[in-house]
Amino acid sequence: MNSLINLKNLKRAEIISDIKKAAEDFQSLNFMEVCGTHTMQIYRAGIPSILPSNINLLSGPGCPVCVTPEEFIDKAIAYLKEGYEILTFGDLYRVPGTYGSLEKECSGKVKIIYSPSESLEYALNNSDKKFILLAVGFETTAPLFAAVVIDAKKKGIKNLFLLCALKLIPPVMRYLLETGELKIDGFLLPGHVATIIGSEAFRKVCDDYKKPGVVSGFEPEDILQSIFILLMLLKYKSRFLEIQYRMAVKREGNVLARREMEKVFQKTKAKWRGIGEIENSGLTLKEEFIEYDISYIHPLKIESQVFNPRCRCGEVLRGIISPVDCPLFDNGCSPQTPQGPCMVSSEGACAAIYKYGR
Ligand code: SF4
Repeated sequence: MNSLINLKNLKRAEIISDIKKAAEDFQSLNFMEVCGTHTMQIYRAGIPSILPSNINLLSGPGCPVCVTPEEFIDKAIAYLKEGYEILTFGDLYRVPGTYGSLEKECSGKVKIIYSPSESLEYALNNSDKKFILLAVGFETTAPLFAAVVIDAKKKGIKNLFLLCALKLIPPVMRYLLETGELKIDGFLLPGHVATIIGSEAFRKVCDDYKKPGVVSGFEPEDILQSIFILLMLLKYKSRFLEIQYRMAVKREGNVLARREMEKVFQKTKAKWRGIGEIENSGLTLKEEFIEYDISYIHPLKIESQVFNPRCRCGEVLRGIISPVDCPLFDNGCSPQTPQGPCMVSSEGACAAIYKYGR
């Protein structure tokens, strides 16, 4: 097993040949990636087409924009109508809520940012305005939002608030394994999330469910190596977690980033679009920073519904269907006319297959 770590020097063709040989020992295998960046790379590099037919790659709930529920978009639009200005990453701009997207409803009052820290400048330079920063993402971006809140408090900023839908990957993996809705034989785990929370957080999930997982980097070779390592983990059954992305991932993660995150946020029950509510799978602001939580400062009651009941993003995000099995795929739903978040986001499975995978 230790020789697995030396795969870095193998060329792509050799790895594919090793995967094909190793896969002969198995019937049908479902490997799920829980990372939108992996999803995009997998389809961009045409990885499904070069794998043996008994290895099926499934895209799970790894795109943060895709799992953000309709009511979050609805609330953001409602706050705009109350006079707040919205600061958001571009991906969220076109995601449909119940009645429309931020783009359709109120484009003029929405500012696209590239980093959460830009929100501090907006707030400091426009003291007559009130801003809401849409905090969407996983453990990778949560420390950036935590840093904004800490800075805002230090600087005495009073016109910047968070609307928070930050989510955590290990709890949703547990949820998918608990429901048993799908046979998952192994996980390709997000290297960037593991950089923050550490490989140990994933080891606990893999050990508890005796389910192999490989923390993977993002180049096509990294992903192929991780698939080969998954096959080896399944074959030898001596342990359940391996790190392919060794140059960035440590057992304990990034202690400083975790400390900032834990200082500002606490775990809470969170709603995942198309999946439902999962205990302790989201982050909310702690009491000490509650003055930056817009849901606390200015609560709004929102009646939300599914934007398009025919959109099957929920099943796509749970790995139950492939995007091409959705009747709307390229038949009313495209990146130009998205009917669900998985077609809007640059990390969504529907967008990835539309762009590269057909
Ligand atoms: Fe939803 Fe469109 Fe994907 Fe179908 S193809 S699941 S409608 S985003």
